[in-house]
Amino acid sequence: MSATPLPLHLPPLEGLPVLVYSLGIEGRDLARWLLRHGARVTISDTRTNEELASAGAVPPPGVERVVTGQPLLDPEGFGLVAVSQSILRYNPALARARELGIPITSQMRLFLQLCPGRTIGITGSSGKSTTTALVGAIAAEAGVEYVLGGNIGEPLLGRLDEIRPDTDVILEISHTQLQYTDRSPHIAAVTNVTPNHLDQFSWDEYVGLKRNHIAHQGRDDIAVLNEDNPVTRTFIAGAKGRVVRTSIERLPDADGAGVDDGEVVIRRNGRATPVLPVSGIRLRGRHNLANVVMACAIAAEAGWPVSAMARAVRRFAGVPHRLEVVGRANGATWVNDSIATSPERTVAGLRSFEEPVILLLGGRDKHLPLDVLQAEVGQRCRGVVCFGEAGALFYDAVARLVPSAVRVPALEDAVAAAARLARPGDVVLLSPAGTSFDRYPNFEARGEHFRQLVRQLPGFTPEVSP
Ligand code: ADP
Repeated sequence: MSATPLPLHLPPLEGLPVLVYSLGIEGRDLARWLLRHGARVTISDTRTNEELASAGAVPPPGVERVVTGQPLLDPEGFGLVAVSQSILRYNPALARARELGIPITSQMRLFLQLCPGRTIGITGSSGKSTTTALVGAIAAEAGVEYVLGGNIGEPLLGRLDEIRPDTDVILEISHTQLQYTDRSPHIAAVTNVTPNHLDQFSWDEYVGLKRNHIAHQGRDDIAVLNEDNPVTRTFIAGAKGRVVRTSIERLPDADGAGVDDGEVVIRRNGRATPVLPVSGIRLRGRHNLANVVMACAIAAEAGWPVSAMARAVRRFAGVPHRLEVVGRANGATWVNDSIATSPERTVAGLRSFEEPVILLLGGRDKHLPLDVLQAEVGQRCRGVVCFGEAGALFYDAVARLVPSAVRVPALEDAVAAAARLARPGDVVLLSPAGTSFDRYPNFEARGEHFRQLVRQLPGFTPEVSP
């Protein structure tokens, strides 16, 4: 049993029947933690046993009952409902729990309540993982004791016991995790807020979730906000803690980080210090410059040395599946950006390349506007290959803009078609604008499949640096 004191709003867990919604990564982390505190755990997940098996979702030992393949179990008779971020807050099962007066908690809510270390949380519509991984790389170079997780890597309730008051806890936090949180990290950063997930939430709700990231801060906390983004800029006025600003257009006048005369520069207590030249960054694209600037602003507030920032940024070659260079074949560079599950992300991916692009678009549609993507495709793409469930939708959107656009059934056909279209000097970019769920359990599996297919192309050579 852990020595960590329980959050005040939780009922005593010993012998308590607790209903956990979802058998996903966070649901399993919750179940294990609850079992260690003596609760009697039931897990409910709407997926079928086959779907759960293919996602590798196995219940932890000690769970009393697992209910699958049907709507979420009615919470009547349970003393607590504990949810993963995949359960949206307006789910009827949660309305029912509220009606019955059953307390509701979530994985990230619990973690932020219980974490004894200093928390550094990063959210935003895009750039979360890259910025979080960069902050982790700087922490490693700085030689501080840190733990990294949340929406990236692993959920961290299982690691609470190893976190001490002087451990830095670096968290990627998604909008769905922010549905339930009632604490804000000590250093809370918002990379940007742009239209995304509009199939789940209205725009106002979505902005509200992102604002919740800093809403529970106190005067001693720090909000790191991107002043280039119209939405995060509006968060500055309402922030309760100290505000630190970032920009890639200039060096902000107040404390923060920015770009000045070709250098990434941080400003703390009014003093500007150069970190490294922009040309020293291996990551491609202006958006990645924004991620580097934000990571440096966070690292400066964490008190880590500038030399650690410079070393980490120079070495950092990116996060897998995010504009990851797989290698060369047919004279073209093949890039895996399987993470790009919305048109806006595909646009950011496209803007990272000066070369002519052959774009692989497909997957499952999220009902987002396609106009900006169409404009970008029209300007930059020499070819587009549309595949998967949303293949027809994407093909209709781009066919008149790119004469060589084609539609094929699946990713293997898309790679073959792209190999036929590719010419020396091209970039072949899997940046699909749709989710992977038409065929794969997650974007990682789709990206891994793409890598394998590319590696099998005749004359393939791996290329390490982007
Ligand atoms: P997230 O974790 O928020 O999904 P990632 O860091 O994994 O973001 O990046 C995913 C994709 O989003 C990248 O491949 C790129 O296309 C786009 N992207 C990343 N950072 C930014 C940014 N700061 N601004 C706009 N787009 C970005």
